[in-house]
Amino acid sequence: MKVPFFDLKLQYQSIHKEVEGVLKDIFEEQGFILGPRVKEFEKKMASYLGVRNAVGVASGTDSLYLSLMALGVQPGDEVITTPFTFFATAGVISRLGATPVFVDIDPNTFLMNPSQVEEVMTPNAKAVIPVHLFGLMVDLKPLKVLSEEEELFIIEDVAQATGARDGSEMAGTVGTFGCFSFFPSKNLGGAGDGGLITTQSDSYGDLIRRLRVHGSAEGYFHTEVGINSRLDVLQAAILEIKLKFLEQWNKQRRENAERYAEMFQSAGLGEKISIPQVREGCTHVFNQYVIKTDQRDKLKTFLNDKEIGTAVYYPLPLHLQPCFKNLGYKEGDFPVSENAARTVLALPIFPELEVEQQAFIVETISEFFKKS
Ligand SMILES: *Cc1c(COP(=O)(O)O)cnc(C)c1O
Repeated sequence: MKVPFFDLKLQYQSIHKEVEGVLKDIFEEQGFILGPRVKEFEKKMASYLGVRNAVGVASGTDSLYLSLMALGVQPGDEVITTPFTFFATAGVISRLGATPVFVDIDPNTFLMNPSQVEEVMTPNAKAVIPVHLFGLMVDLKPLKVLSEEEELFIIEDVAQATGARDGSEMAGTVGTFGCFSFFPSKNLGGAGDGGLITTQSDSYGDLIRRLRVHGSAEGYFHTEVGINSRLDVLQAAILEIKLKFLEQWNKQRRENAERYAEMFQSAGLGEKISIPQVREGCTHVFNQYVIKTDQRDKLKTFLNDKEIGTAVYYPLPLHLQPCFKNLGYKEGDFPVSENAARTVLALPIFPELEVEQQAFIVETISEFFKKS
């Protein structure tokens, strides 16, 4: 048996007729930038999430970048985030000349530790970017309190958590901005790059709508210096089709996660590996299913030899990346993140994963620990 880490071909089989139909229509229309199809998708996302404004942009990275731009983040400002995330979360801060300030993560959930945010806050702190990593929401309550007491804006990085909830609150609706990615491997993924910014504020919504078209509300008159960052019509149309299946696909991911938990339990692997924890009251959407083991590298090779795909998110925390040397962090500054980087391993969790494949993965992991 062979188990890919991820397989989008299976998903495509279930929607190909609808996708091919709409692509044919768009090519006949020959309208590719903004317009009614993008508006329609934005409207559907806004209503799915329960948020006043949803603005399609060119990528998840741009959604973060534009949110910081809208807040006027500039050199001298600090933006607090986690070092255990995809590079883009911190890269956008540096690109605006501001300084990323990191706080460590919780060892069980891998999420930013909100209680540490207050400790690193200086008068220069402008915003905090909690990352709903792997599909689980960060506890935003303490951050909301902070943001109301001090002027600290919350920008949620929802790239890996489209559809996640904390109680009845949906990821991307709590902060000033919610930043989504439609990179193909995300829970709602397009046929290329894409992103979305949500905000309850109409004035920020309008500002983002201008900033994505060079800071202009009507052609050739510019109120701000913006960028070119729009969601393609082709992407919007494909995503609109996929949105109808998102809740179902997320449920399948959750069921796969529950099945792993049962299988690991009955295989007696509870002591050998630690499995993902779900914060009380949260709906996890499992963009990734990440286990921890001290023998990560050996296990990865063993699974690879048995044709089971895995991945390491992330092998080097951001405070130790060569490009951030100037920030002055060193090994040991964020021990929980550093330990996670050495021990995490993501297993296949895509919605179409079969029970037999999961059983094979768990058996193979068992076999590894019996040998070692
Ligand atoms: C994927 C991702 C991004 C960036 O999204 P792109 O669409 O690839 O630009 C940002 N943050 C996190 C946590 C991500 O996983």
